[in-house]
Amino acid sequence: MTEKSVIIIGAGLAGLSAGCYAQMNGYQSQIFEHHSKPGGVAAAWERQGYLIDGGIHFLMGHRPGQPLYDLYRELGIVQVNRFLDITTYSRFMDEASGLRVDVTADLDRLASDLKILSPADARLVDELISGARVMQRSGVLFDVGMGKPPELMNPLDQLRQLWSMRRVFKYFSGKHARPMAEYAQAVHSPLLRQILENLFLPEVPVWFLLMLLALLADKQMGLLEGGCLDFVHSIEERYKALGGQVTYKATVEKILVENDRAVGVRLADGREHQAGVVISAADGYSTIFKLLGGCYVDSKIHERYRNWKLIRPTVVVSFGVARAFPSEPSSIVFLLKNPFAIGSQFVKGFALRIFNYSAKFAPPGKTVVQAMLETEWNYWNELEKDRSRYDAEKGRVAGEILSRLEAHYPNISSQVEMTDVSTPYTTWRYTLNHKGAYMGWLPTPRELMTPIPRTLSGLANFYMAGQWVMPGGGVPPCLYSGRHVVQILCRRDGKPFLTSIPRV
Ligand SMILES: Cc1cc2nc3c(=O)[nH]c(=O)nc-3n(C[C@H](O)[C@H](O)[C@H](O)COP(=O)(O)OP(=O)(O)OC[C@H]3O[C@@H](n4cnc5c(N)ncnc54)[C@H](O)[C@@H]3O)c2cc1C
Repeated sequence: MTEKSVIIIGAGLAGLSAGCYAQMNGYQSQIFEHHSKPGGVAAAWERQGYLIDGGIHFLMGHRPGQPLYDLYRELGIVQVNRFLDITTYSRFMDEASGLRVDVTADLDRLASDLKILSPADARLVDELISGARVMQRSGVLFDVGMGKPPELMNPLDQLRQLWSMRRVFKYFSGKHARPMAEYAQAVHSPLLRQILENLFLPEVPVWFLLMLLALLADKQMGLLEGGCLDFVHSIEERYKALGGQVTYKATVEKILVENDRAVGVRLADGREHQAGVVISAADGYSTIFKLLGGCYVDSKIHERYRNWKLIRPTVVVSFGVARAFPSEPSSIVFLLKNPFAIGSQFVKGFALRIFNYSAKFAPPGKTVVQAMLETEWNYWNELEKDRSRYDAEKGRVAGEILSRLEAHYPNISSQVEMTDVSTPYTTWRYTLNHKGAYMGWLPTPRELMTPIPRTLSGLANFYMAGQWVMPGGGVPPCLYSGRHVVQILCRRDGKPFLTSIPRV
C-alpha cells in the first residue's frame, strides 16, 4: 500500500469517473463493484433478443463548445458514442379529454400549443417561455459551479461564477425558486397544470424546468444511440486503458479505519485490501451508517438522512414488441382515465419510453417500449419476501400497463414477445441504493441548492462521490463528482490536477 493507492467503492458513473481522473493524476486505483457489471443505475440488460435500457433517458451538453463536452471527451465518451438531438422532449396524452400536447424544442410552437390548450394561462406560458429563453442565452446551462468543487473555490472563482449568472439571478429566488407544483397552482387549466408538474417532477424548482426547456431549445439534449450499455462501456474502457482495475461481484462490507484514517476495505468474502485513500461512490446511507458503522456522523448528516426526501422509486415494465413505432416520439406521458392501484397508491399516469430511434435495442421491425411508474419502496420490499406473490404482482402490473397501451396501439398485446418488470427491490438488489432511490435525493429547491461535503468530519483519507453527494443526481453531476474528489486529492497532495483526452 502506498500513499498513491486509491480504492473506489462502486463502478457506477461516479466511481468510473473518479477512477479515470485518479489514473490521469498518477494514483493507482482499483474499483470494487457489487454487481457483475459496471454502470450502477445506468443499467442495461438483454432479454430474449431485446436490449432493455433501464437508465439514462437523455444526456445534456453532448455538443462541442461547452465545458461539459470537454468532460465527456476526457472520459472517452463522445469519441465512441453517438447522440441524437431530441426534438420532442415528451408527448402528453390526456386519456380523459383525448387531447395531446408535444413539448418541443421549438419554443415558439410550444408556447402557441400551450396557449391554444389554455388561453386563460397565456401570460404564465409567456413568462415560462421567456424565462427559458433567458436561460438559453445566458450560457450558464452547462457549468453551473461544476468545473471546480465548491471546496476549492476561492473568492475570485465565486465572483466569476456570480458574474456568469448575472442574467439569470432573478430565477433563483422568488416564485421561480418554488417547487413547480406550487407555481402551477396559479394555472387555470388542469391539464396544463399536470403537464407542468410532470415535465420532470412536481417538486423541482421552476428554474430547473426553465433550464430543461433551454437545453431542449438549444439542442443540448441527446438520446444515447447505443443506450446505457455503450455509454458505460466507453468509460469503463477509458478507465482500463488508463491502467485502472475493476473487480466485479466484490461487495464492500466495511471501510477499514485506523486512528481516524481510512486505510482500506473489507469485502463480503472476508478479503481485505489496503490503500492510501478510499473513495466511496456507492450508496450514501450504507457508506455512512453501515460501511463506516455510523462513526463519522455530524448533526447535518443526521438531519439529511432523517428529513430529506428520497426520489420516489419506480416499477419499470419493458415489452419487446413485434411492431415498429415509426411516427411516435421517444417519450410519451399517459395521463390515465382509469387509474389503477399498486399497494396503497393509485397510478394516475406513467411515462412510456419508445426505443424507436436506434437499431440497438430490438431486431429489425421490432421495438422495446417501456413504462415507468412511481411506486412505494415498502410495498415491494415486503412483497419480495413471498416470491410467488411478488412475481404475481409484477405480472399483474404488466397486464395493467398492457391493457392501457392496447387502447392507443390496438393489438399490441398479441405482438408482445418479451416482458420484463423491475421493481424498487430490483434497483436495490443490483445497486444497493437506499430504498431503491435510483437518483438519490428528491431534487427539491432546498436540496438542489445545498452543497454536500465530499468528506466526513473526523475521518482522513476518505472521500465520497456520486448522486448521494450531488443532490438530484444526473449524469453530468455524478461524472463531475468523480473529477471533484481527485481535484481535492491533488490539492491535498500539493500537485496540479491533470487531465488528458484519449484518441479515438
Ligand atoms: C431510469 C433512470 C433514468 C435516468 N435518466 C437520466 C437522464 O435522462 N439524464 C441524466 O443526466 N441522468 C439520468 N439518470 C440519473 C443518473 O443515471 C444517475 O444519477 C447516475 O448514473 C448515478 O451514478 P452514481 O455512480 O452516483 O450511482 P450508482 O449508479 O448507484 O452507482 C453506485 C455503484 O456502487 C455500487 N455499490 C454500492 N454499494 C456497494 C458496495 N458496498 N460495494 C461495492 N459496490 C457497491 C453499486 O452496485 C453501483 O454500481 C437516470 C437514472 C435512472 C435510474
